[in-house]
Amino acid sequence: PLGLPGDHRFNVVLISLDSLRADHVGCYGYYRDTTPALDHFAAEGIRFANAISTSSWTLPTHLTMFTGRYQLSHGVVEDTMTLGPPVPTLPEVLKRQGYVTAGFVSGPYLAARYGYARGMDSYEDISARYSHRREARSAIVAPEVTEKALDWLDGHAQDRFFLFIHYFDIHYDYIPPPPYDSMFDPDYTGSVDGTNFIERADVNPKMKRRDLEHIVALYDGEIRFTDDHVAQVLERIDRLGLRDNTLVIIVSDHGDEFFEHGNKGHHRTVYDEVLRIPLLMRLPKGIGRGSVVGDQVSLVDLMPTILDILGIESPQGVEGVSLLPLVRGRPIDRDAIYAEFFDKRGFNLQVARRTPERKTIEHFNRLMHPRRRPIEVYDIARDPGEQHDLAAEPDEDVRAEITQLGQWLERRWRINRQVERASHGANRVEIDAETMQRLKSLGYVGD
Ligand SMILES: [Zn+2]
Repeated sequence: PLGLPGDHRFNVVLISLDSLRADHVGCYGYYRDTTPALDHFAAEGIRFANAISTSSWTLPTHLTMFTGRYQLSHGVVEDTMTLGPPVPTLPEVLKRQGYVTAGFVSGPYLAARYGYARGMDSYEDISARYSHRREARSAIVAPEVTEKALDWLDGHAQDRFFLFIHYFDIHYDYIPPPPYDSMFDPDYTGSVDGTNFIERADVNPKMKRRDLEHIVALYDGEIRFTDDHVAQVLERIDRLGLRDNTLVIIVSDHGDEFFEHGNKGHHRTVYDEVLRIPLLMRLPKGIGRGSVVGDQVSLVDLMPTILDILGIESPQGVEGVSLLPLVRGRPIDRDAIYAEFFDKRGFNLQVARRTPERKTIEHFNRLMHPRRRPIEVYDIARDPGEQHDLAAEPDEDVRAEITQLGQWLERRWRINRQVERASHGANRVEIDAETMQRLKSLGYVGD
C-alpha cells in the first residue's frame, strides 16, 4: 500500500491502447508529436521506460492484464478458449471490495466471452456490430468508446469505481480519419495506403522505403487520433474532481512490426518491436510525480501493482509483482521476465527469457519453421534491435539461460494443466462461423 493515512480505495481507470509500440510514443523518445496527451500525463505521473509485454497479440496479453498471470497460467493461449472459472480476475477482486465496475472495449479479442466481463457491472464491445470481413479492423471506434466512457464517468463520479477503456484504432488497418490521415506525411504521392495491411502484397519486406515510411506515418496518425481521445478522458477526470482519488494507468498490449525481422503486424514473434510497450501511471495526490523507472518490468506486474496501491491483497496464483517499490527507488528481486508466443493451434512456438542485458529465445515445434534456429540470443544492451544472434557458439551463460527458461516453462505447463483440470471443460468456447470470419479478418486465423 501507499502508506498514506485514510482511505486508499481509490478509483481505477485502466486505458489500453491496442498495438502501440513504446518507441512511437513521444515521452519514450519518438521524434513525431504522436502523443501530446500521453506525454503530458507522463510528466504528471510515473513512466516505466522498460515495460515488456507477455506476448505479441491481443487476447493473451489483455487477459494477463486482468489476471496477473502469464498466458499458460491464465490458460487462454488460443481463441477457442476462455478464462477458466478458477482463475480470478481484477474486476472480480475489485467488485468483491465494493467497486462499481465497467468496461468499454472495441476489438474482437476483447469480447466478453473470453472472461473479461466477469466481475463487471457493465461491459460493452463496440466492435461486436461489425460482422463483415475487415469491417472490425478498419472501423473508427475511438469516438464512440470515448463518448460511452465519458457518459459512464459522469454517472459514477460519486461511486468507488473501476473503469476499463480499450481503444482499437491503432491496430491495423491504418486508416485514420482526416486530418490524421495526412498529418505526418502530407506530401506522399505514391499508391500504397493503410487498407488491408496484412493481405496486400505491395506491403512487403522489399517494398520501397518511401512507401513504408508512408505506412508508418498512417500508423502514427492512428496513434495521434487515439491520443486526442485519451486527452478527453483525462480532462473529464479532472473536471469531475476525481484526480486526487483516482489511479489512472495507460498501457498497450503489444507493438507492431514493420519488417525489422521480416514480418509485418503482430502475432508473429517475440522481438522487442512487439514486446516493448508504454506503461504510464498517475497515482493520486501526485505521488511519484514526473519519475521515470528504468528497471525492466512486465505486463504481468500490472494487476498486483494496482491491488498493492489500493491496499488489496493479490489473489493466489498471481505471478507478477507490485512495482510500487520501484516507484520508491527500491529494487525488485527478480532475475528475468518472460514472453510467450503460441500460434493459433496452441502450439508453443517461441518463448523469450529477458533480462536487462540479454534475451534468449527458444523455438519449439520446429517442424513448422524448419529454417529457424531453435535458439536465439541477443545482447539487447548493445544490440537493442536484436540483429546479431549470439547463439551460434553457445557458452556457459547461454546454456544456463536455456536451462532456466526450460524450468520456467515446465512450471507454467504444470499450472496450465491444473487450471485445465479445475475448469472441467468450462475454459473452451464454441466459435460460430460469423465470429470466426471476424477473427480471420484480423489476420490472426487461417494464414
Ligand atoms: Zn492487440
